[in-house]
Amino acid sequence: MQRRKKQLSPKVRRWALIAAAALLVGIGVVAVWNAVALRQAVDRRTQQYLEDVSSQSAQLIRSRVDGAMNQLALVAEDLASGAIAPNALHNRAALTNFDELAVVGPEGGTPFSDAFPVNLGELPAFQSALNGTRVFCPLPEKDGFLYLIPLADGQGSGVLAGVKSDAKMRAIIDNGCFNGQGSTCILDSSGTILVSPTQRPFSVLIAATDYSGSEVWAQKMRQDLQQSQAGSIVFPTGDGKEVLLDYRPIGDYGIYVATLIPRDLIAAEVELHARQAVGFAVGVAVLLALLGAAGVVFQHQTQAQMRQVVFSDPVTGGHNNAYFLWEGERLIRQKPAGGWAVVALNLKDFRLINEVKGEKVGDALLAQVYHTLLQQLGEGELAARGEGDTFYLLVRSPQDQLAARMEDFSAQLRAINTAMGFLRVSQGGCSVDPAAPDLSAAERRANLARKTVVAEYPSSAALFDAPFAARQQEEIERLKELEQAFAREEFCIYLQPKYRQRDGRPEVAGAEALVRWVHPRRGLIPPGEFIPLCERTGLIRQLDLLVFEKVCLLLKRWAEQGLAEVPVSVNVSRQHMKTARFLDNYRNILQRTGADARCLELELTENVLFTTREIGEARDLIGHIHQLGMRCSLDDFGAGYSSLGLLKDLPVDTLKLDRQFFVGSLDSPRSQAVIRSILSLAKTLNIESVAEGIEEEGQAAFLWEAGCDLIQGYLYAPPLPTAAFEALLPPSDN
Ligand code: C2E
Ligand code: CA
Ligand code: CA
Repeated sequence: MQRRKKQLSPKVRRWALIAAAALLVGIGVVAVWNAVALRQAVDRRTQQYLEDVSSQSAQLIRSRVDGAMNQLALVAEDLASGAIAPNALHNRAALTNFDELAVVGPEGGTPFSDAFPVNLGELPAFQSALNGTRVFCPLPEKDGFLYLIPLADGQGSGVLAGVKSDAKMRAIIDNGCFNGQGSTCILDSSGTILVSPTQRPFSVLIAATDYSGSEVWAQKMRQDLQQSQAGSIVFPTGDGKEVLLDYRPIGDYGIYVATLIPRDLIAAEVELHARQAVGFAVGVAVLLALLGAAGVVFQHQTQAQMRQVVFSDPVTGGHNNAYFLWEGERLIRQKPAGGWAVVALNLKDFRLINEVKGEKVGDALLAQVYHTLLQQLGEGELAARGEGDTFYLLVRSPQDQLAARMEDFSAQLRAINTAMGFLRVSQGGCSVDPAAPDLSAAERRANLARKTVVAEYPSSAALFDAPFAARQQEEIERLKELEQAFAREEFCIYLQPKYRQRDGRPEVAGAEALVRWVHPRRGLIPPGEFIPLCERTGLIRQLDLLVFEKVCLLLKRWAEQGLAEVPVSVNVSRQHMKTARFLDNYRNILQRTGADARCLELELTENVLFTTREIGEARDLIGHIHQLGMRCSLDDFGAGYSSLGLLKDLPVDTLKLDRQFFVGSLDSPRSQAVIRSILSLAKTLNIESVAEGIEEEGQAAFLWEAGCDLIQGYLYAPPLPTAAFEALLPPSDN
């Protein structure tokens, strides 16, 4: 038996060995084949995702460019019909999001400011525009884009030209793709980068790549770009890796969107897993089945990981806006029935929370908001974080229920207690046409509506609906009227006297210049009715300078007529203060008019939201005002959350106590004590004090007694036409 066994066993062993070897080879072949197939599948998927992201970017940019062209065409029509004057184009630029607009005759020329020093006559594109083509092209040797359309008469009489800086285009591509591992750029037809994103892991690579080479990929890209075709290439980088680049044209403008990612973005990970799979398979045949199952699971995971990389928001752990746009439009197309709407939601005072409590706390709050919003959403609805502290929601609500839905959101969020009290938000909503869903347009409109929300609690939401669109239109009409007012010089100044007490009697000691609009039909319009619109459109700077110039001319005339020259103060808007080198204009006017700077005072409004850096800037600004020889006052002190701490940092000459300080409050000993101590603090710091809006004898008596230097208010005089004010002035002593 034993012998027999011994005889048999080599045979059995041989067969077993052969079978095992065959099995091994079989498993090996299957495993290798599987790994190769997996790798190919991942390559294909990488490519597919890249193409999807790239085409999405191209579509987005195309729609922005076309939108800008249409706006330009509307402006051209308004020019042709005379609805706007060519010299008022800068206001329209602010409304249409252009940096500058200009009308250019057939001879060309350099129509823009020094920021865009381009000579249009030298551009071939300019000729095409004269011949009737709409042109969108990069500015030569300058960071920006040029939009040209022929003037509406179609006679080749010139073009309307607009410029936008790169920053606007960059904001579109900055959305970031593949979680920062890839990037999107804009190229011209020679492959030169026109705009690259702020964070650019790979655009450096494209820039450093030589497309003139004879490699197959270089030839293909050159050819494609010349023929305005989309395509993709793989090319090697200096460090032995490979990059996948997809490019596609934006309309017929000769400009391309290029998106690139490392080729092994997912493949490297896949390879490791595949190798482990081979080792595993060789061990046990039974595992073959398991391996198959693992392969399926793994493929699912890869897909999930891919989505995670492209569509996630690292701050909230949820979705980003790219996902929102993509998935949202897909959802709507899937179930087009019923009302769809986009809500844009922004946190109030988030900047403050970040500033005071630090970014970590800020980020945690963003995550909390996101998850709170998620809980409010139903089946098939979406939430994502957009830029900064803005969130977007896609909800299934007919227009008449949208407001209630938004009220629910803010009610839920109000329950969150932040470092600055309970969380408040502003929201805008816009319904979406399910037949042609355009979510980025809906986001833009929802934001437009949101920005009109007044900071008041509890109503914190607005809808972009027909009445809203009508109001937008009305605002454009009002803006036209305001522009005409500048052209027709319909503004004048009133002077409100400031009084001091001498020998127990009030005596004129200065004035504040206040602007009035003398409307041909409506009569005298107070500033409260037009300054907000001036502020929204940037016209406020023009208005401030106009008032300043009128005051300078007036002072000059007083000097010549031998009237006593009392100091006159002029308001400077907050927006103006933020403009770089804004004092240059004031210096020029001073020089041109020859007014005595010592008689001028600029009124700046205080701002509790000053950050440390801004306080530094405000201090420098006051220094420059002093260098020009003018005085400087802090206006509306006490109207908001005033901070006495500001007086320590800002070397102002005058403190103007706001009317709110005095209205109905002087009866309480507590208020009196507060005002007394502010006045005495001002005295100690050698700061002149002015009480504004004084209407009652009792208020004045208290203020004189408490040591207030000057009083301005209806009790003594309202704002007066200049002639009436001059009648109050004594003749000059000299
Ligand atoms: P403000 O700088 O605080 O100017 C004082 C306002 O209080 C003036 O209103 C004045 O008429 C009003 N007022 C004066 N005394 C009394 C009083 O006893 N009782 C009451 N109830 N009101 C009094 P006005 O002229 O309507 O100006 C409103 C605001 O418009 C100004 O507030 C200022 O912020 C702005 N403003 C006026 N002119 C200009 C300007 O040229 N440039 C800028 N940026 N803003 C201006
Ligand atoms: Ca003022
Ligand atoms: Ca004031």
